[in-house]
Amino acid sequence: MEAPTQRHTQPALEVRGLDVNYSGIRAVRQLDLTVNAGEIVTLIGPNGAGKSSTLMAIVGLVQRSGQIYLDGQDVSGFSTEQMVRAGLTLSPEGRRVFSGLTVAENLRLGGASNKDRAAEQVRLLDTFPVLKERYHQRAGTLSGGEQQILAIARALMSRPRILLLDEPSLGLAPKIVDTIFQVIAELRQWGISVLLVEQDIERALRVSDRGYVMSHGEILATDTAANMLSDANLKDLFFGAHQ
Ligand code: ATP
Repeated sequence: MEAPTQRHTQPALEVRGLDVNYSGIRAVRQLDLTVNAGEIVTLIGPNGAGKSSTLMAIVGLVQRSGQIYLDGQDVSGFSTEQMVRAGLTLSPEGRRVFSGLTVAENLRLGGASNKDRAAEQVRLLDTFPVLKERYHQRAGTLSGGEQQILAIARALMSRPRILLLDEPSLGLAPKIVDTIFQVIAELRQWGISVLLVEQDIERALRVSDRGYVMSHGEILATDTAANMLSDANLKDLFFGAHQ
């Protein structure tokens, strides 16, 4: 018999029937996915599969239809700003920092909706000492790796419960990539759930709990990260999706 105290926990993020169209091109079709509290989930797939469109659609940066739930609450009609306030933040592809602003100013903008932003900044500067060293420097003068760290830190300044991370390792030197993946793995301890899009599928799956394979706008498969790493068929499916 079910214990009377048992609670039915909701996923931290639930996406149902997501569609994205760009002037007639269906970039995402009827996509369903979930991220449970404390999970790191990777969305993999070839170029043009619709991964970035999925992340941008979830936070409301591109037009979409479908339902988005945060902890069971329907937030489908929320603006991007309301999503941030509700705990969902995107760190977009391409290290989008404000290059003319200093590190300090970039962080301040990221924390605009967070009333505990001062404490958050202390924690982030401890975690990323390079940002402390570069605090008064313009972001445009930072190396690519430092800019990516700043882009992630800026997203974290809003103290999200769910962070969407688009291609955080793209174009970075191996040493910086190591740092980025250490940070991603650590986010779980911070109580932050992550939906990660990443080309380096092995590294992504190694820090993840589960994964989804996407191609041509649709989810083709989903499994635990451990199964996906050991499943030759799944790798075939992923590489097959390139054709
Ligand atoms: P990549 O790994 O190359 O970033 P992706 O899986 O993130 O690929 P998307 O960038 O989401 O894929 O693109 C999905 C599809 O939508 C592609 O066919 C792409 O050409 C198209 N697309 C993306 N953005 C736009 C846009 N602003 N206008 C028109 N079509 C777009």
